[in-house]
Amino acid sequence: MTNLINRAKELLENGTVKVVIGYEAGPTGLARPAFITDPAKAGKLIYDDRCVQNLAVYLTKAEVKNLGKMAIVSTLPVMRSIMMLISEHQVMGDNIVVLGISTEKELLDIADIGVMKGYIEKCDLRNPEKDRETLAMLNALTPAERFAWWQKEMEKCIKCYACRQACPMCYCIRCTVEVNQPQWIPVQANPHGSTEWHILRAMHLAGRCISCGECGRACPVGIPCHLLTMQLADQVNNYFHVHAGTSDNMTSVLSTYEPNDKESFII
Ligand code: SF4
Ligand code: SF4
Ligand code: SF4
Repeated sequence: MTNLINRAKELLENGTVKVVIGYEAGPTGLARPAFITDPAKAGKLIYDDRCVQNLAVYLTKAEVKNLGKMAIVSTLPVMRSIMMLISEHQVMGDNIVVLGISTEKELLDIADIGVMKGYIEKCDLRNPEKDRETLAMLNALTPAERFAWWQKEMEKCIKCYACRQACPMCYCIRCTVEVNQPQWIPVQANPHGSTEWHILRAMHLAGRCISCGECGRACPVGIPCHLLTMQLADQVNNYFHVHAGTSDNMTSVLSTYEPNDKESFII
C-alpha cells in the first residue's frame, strides 16, 4: 500500500496532521491499530484483509485527540462513523483528514467531508450478507421464539463490555452501566441484568449504529450482539428511510419528529 504510506508520510512531514491512525502488523502477525506521529515510521502502515477494526473508535479518545489534528485510515464503516461523530458534535470535520480506502483496497482521494458524503452515497449500505441471512432467520420467528433465541445468547454474557469499548458510537465518558446512584443495571452477569444491558445498549444505538459489526466481533464469548443494533438500524431505515452515517448533519431518530411521521408504532 505504497500510496497510503506516501500520503501519510507527506501529511506528517508538512505538518498537516500530527498523528495518522491506521493499522500495523502486530508481533503475532495480526493487524493492530497504529498511531504514527513520526514520518519516518509511516512505512509501518499496512492495509489488507487483516485490518478489520473500526478505527473511528479512537477519534473521541482524549489520548489521541490531544496529539493534534488527525488523519485516519477509513473504510466505509469508518467514514460513516465519522459522519455520525460530526453530527453529534464529538469531532470537527476540519480537524480530520480522511485516508479513504475503497472496497478494492485502493487509496481514495477524499479532499473533504463533502467528497466523503458523495462517496458514501454511492456505496451499498446494506448489512453484510451473512448478517442479512441471520436477521432474516430471526425475523421469521415469532416474537416469543425470537426472545428465547436472544435469551439463550445473553445467558453467555459476562458483562465485560468489550462490545461497548469497540463501538465508535459508545463514547460516553461515563456509561449508564457504571452509574451506581441509582444503579440502573445490575453489576453481576445474571440473565435479568444481561438482558437489561443489551436492551439498553441497543436503544442507545438506535438510529446511530452504522452497522460495522465491531461489537459482535469484539465479544469474547461469541454473542452476535451487533445483530440487535443492526436490526434497529433496519427498522429506522424502514420507518424513516435513513441510514446512519450518511451525512454530517444527521438528527437523532429518538429525539426528533416530524408532524407527518408514521405513527404505526403507537397502538
Ligand atoms: S455494529 Fe456495533 S460497534 Fe458497529 S456501530 Fe453498530 S453498535 Fe457500534
Ligand atoms: S451503552 Fe449507552 S451510555 Fe453506555 S457508552 Fe454506549 S451509548 Fe453511552
Ligand atoms: S462483549 Fe459479549 S460478553 Fe462482553 S458485555 Fe458485550 S455481549 Fe457481554
